[in-house]
Amino acid sequence: MKHFFRVLLFIAIAALCSGCGSQNGPGSAAGGQGGGGQKDGGKTGQNVRTAETTWQYVDTAMGTVIQQTLYAPDEETARDFSLQAMELLWGLERERLSWRLDTSEVYRANATSGSGEGFLLSRDLAELLESGMELSERSQGAFDMTLGSVTRLWNIDEWAAESNPEGFQIPSRETLAQALSACGYEKLRLEWEERDEGEREEGRGEEEQEENEREKCRIFLPEGMQLDLGAVGKGLGMSELTSLLEGQSSITGAVISLGGSILTYGSKPDGSSWRVGITDPFDKSSNIGILSLEGQWCISTSGDYERYVEVDGVRYHHILDPRTGAPAVSQVRGVTVLLKDGLLSDGLSTACFILGPQEGMALAAEYGAESLFILSNGEIVMSEGMERLFSETR
Ligand code: ADP
Ligand code: MG
Repeated sequence: MKHFFRVLLFIAIAALCSGCGSQNGPGSAAGGQGGGGQKDGGKTGQNVRTAETTWQYVDTAMGTVIQQTLYAPDEETARDFSLQAMELLWGLERERLSWRLDTSEVYRANATSGSGEGFLLSRDLAELLESGMELSERSQGAFDMTLGSVTRLWNIDEWAAESNPEGFQIPSRETLAQALSACGYEKLRLEWEERDEGEREEGRGEEEQEENEREKCRIFLPEGMQLDLGAVGKGLGMSELTSLLEGQSSITGAVISLGGSILTYGSKPDGSSWRVGITDPFDKSSNIGILSLEGQWCISTSGDYERYVEVDGVRYHHILDPRTGAPAVSQVRGVTVLLKDGLLSDGLSTACFILGPQEGMALAAEYGAESLFILSNGEIVMSEGMERLFSETR
């Protein structure tokens, strides 16, 4: 069955025009949450040569489908890079982001909740959490990475895996209130301290030791608090993939899609723009429009139409309002954010979904991001800069 699914994906991507990134909604799973990335045992996905210098690869990581379109002089170069990219994403899930795998920092940090000792973070995770905390403040708490106990209560991961309302249970008011009382970014503490001379961190390689040399960051989670980096994991993925691309010159252009997040990089040999489709939340099989982009961009979408359960006509989706612990009631069906920085674009689209078009667009602008909101009445609202890049096709 899985093989069948992957062959279908292969056919679907082969049918796309060469170099087109097609955005398939806000992703089918939360980045950094699922244990799915490793289940393929590090095998590469299928590939097809679509033009003289274009190669495409499909695989899974971070609980979602990863599609790579690469421009390279030869297949070996493209295949090598695609493997490195997958290794990087699997590694991020295994070592940093997963709340299920006991090898990851998030898992181990969560295990220290309430202990008072805290947990020593790697530099990249510390920086991700720091920028996430800033986003929480700037969004007045709409964005919150400490909702783990509540997201688990809703069993959001199961919806991604099964899309199956059977067995779905609405948490009782009491359990929700109790889980929610352990959440709240303002109760999370990150402390930077000077590293003692010669001090080493257990389980870290030489290179990482050097990177973390001067300072270390310890995280303190109060009793019951659990991190959930589902809204930012793919952002970290995009940011690290950008560094990987920048570190070599043989890949001259790339479009890499991680569920609802897409990275464009470099250029096409014919110099034409990247064309990224934005899914129509009212009809997921089509696009409402196309973004035409030059060079490097990170495009993140959050919406209520990809991961949800419908019970008695009520749609329960996976973006929660930290004030209630329930799926956010928003006039937005989908929001797309465009930014050079992947780390921020992922979290920003989640925050914008909750805040709605006015506050969301203002927040995006603070970060220098363009934004496009599709409202529940079908209206499209977008920033000025976005108007120059977007053409409606519906
Ligand atoms: P996706 O991961 O499907 O692309 P998002 O990036 O919008 O979608 O992230 C949604 C995920 O983030 C949820 O599955 C959950 O793990 C987590 N989450 C839910 N609500 C919030 C919130 N208010 N702030 C931060 N993270 C959230
Ligand atoms: Mg997000």
